[in-house]
Order: sequence, then structure tokens, then C-alpha cells
Amino acid sequence: MSEVASVQVDDTKGAKVQHIDDTSVKNQEHGKIKEDMHVAGVIMPSMPDQNSKKELGNASWKYFHTLLARFPDEPTEDERTKLKNFIQLYAELYPCGECSYHFVKMIKKFPVQTSSRKVAALWGCDIHNKVNAYLKKDIYDCTTILEDYDCGCGEPSQ
Ligand SMILES: Cc1cc2nc3c(=O)[nH]c(=O)nc-3n(C[C@H](O)[C@H](O)[C@H](O)COP(=O)(O)OP(=O)(O)OC[C@H]3O[C@@H](n4cnc5c(N)ncnc54)[C@H](O)[C@@H]3O)c2cc1C
Repeated sequence: MSEVASVQVDDTKGAKVQHIDDTSVKNQEHGKIKEDMHVAGVIMPSMPDQNSKKELGNASWKYFHTLLARFPDEPTEDERTKLKNFIQLYAELYPCGECSYHFVKMIKKFPVQTSSRKVAALWGCDIHNKVNAYLKKDIYDCTTILEDYDCGCGEPSQ
């Protein structure tokens, strides 16, 4: 049976951290997240600078979606395992600690789908939308995800 990337909205306390204006409440929430991160064994430090977080996020998502849009159409078991392992490590080693903390939890709940290029690309679009949702950003239309991330660099065999 083929895998289907679902679109569901996730709840997380990350949204609270992003959008509560009161500084003391924000600091309390941030302190709780930092404690949770410590308990969860997050490897990377937190990234309080929002500009750095945005620049890193833009570049990382570009890389992430481009990778998925070039994954084989008919991957071998070995290629599927490699993609799954890679994304797990990508999440664990993402350079923004709080992002890593959320993303690791998210891919545990919505495991990476690897049965084909299209399925993988749709899964990637969906998981990015889940991050968009908790950051209260617009939801992206995934219907043309492969075209959107066609880097124009040709198939590897060409
Ligand atoms: C793995 C990961 C986890 C993150 N976790 C957090 C976090 O916990 N807290 C935090 O503050 N920031 C986090 N970020 C950063 C955050 O997702 C954004 O990158 C950042 O807020 C800048 O957002 P942006 O509006 O510029 O667009 P981005 O979300 O960076 O998107 C870049 C571009 O990709 C396109 N795009 C948007 N949605 C999709 C989609 N669903 N599929 C394909 N393309 C799309 C749009 O053209 C958009 O302009 C994370 C980033 C990554 C890569």
C-alpha cells in the first residue's frame, strides 16, 4: 500500500513562546522549553536571535525541499532507510536547539515517508506546514511542490 502524506494541524507550546507579548510570561515559557530541551537531550544551543533563525530557516527549508524533490522516484530499500536516517539526524543536529526540539517531536509523530519522490516531497511540504502552523504562518499549497522545488539542475543520469 502506498503512503499518503496527510495534512493535519499540530498543537505545540512553541506557539505560545512565539506570540505571547508579556515578557515575564515569555521568559517563564522559554525557561520551561529550555528545561524540556535539557531533559530531552537536545544537542544544539538555543538561538534567541530571530534574524539568524529566519535566515537559517529559509536556507534550510530550501535545502530540505530541494533534496526531497530530487529523491529517486522508485527508491531502493537502502535509499529509503538512508533518507529516513538522514532526516532524523538533520532534526537532531539542526543548529537552533528549540527548533530541533520541536522538529524531533514532530517527525516522531509524523514519520518521514519515503516510498517515492512525490510521497517524500509531499511529506516534507506537510511537515513544513505544521511548523508554519505553530508559528502562525500561512499554510503553503503543496499541490505543485515538485515543480516549485525543481532546481533546474537536471536528473542525476543526464
Ligand atoms: C526544521 C526546522 C524547524 C524549525 N523550527 C522552528 C521553531 O521551532 N521556531 C522558530 O521560531 N522557527 C523555526 N524554524 C524556522 C522557521 O520555520 C522559518 O524558517 C522562519 O520563521 C522564517 O520564516 P519565513 O516566513 O521566512 O519562511 P520559511 O518558513 O523559512 O519558508 C521559506 C520559503 O519556503 C516556502 N514555503 C513555505 N511553506 C512551505 C511548505 N510547507 N512547503 C514548501 N515550501 C514552503 C515559501 O516560499 C517561504 O517563503 C525552523 C526551521 C526549520 C528548517
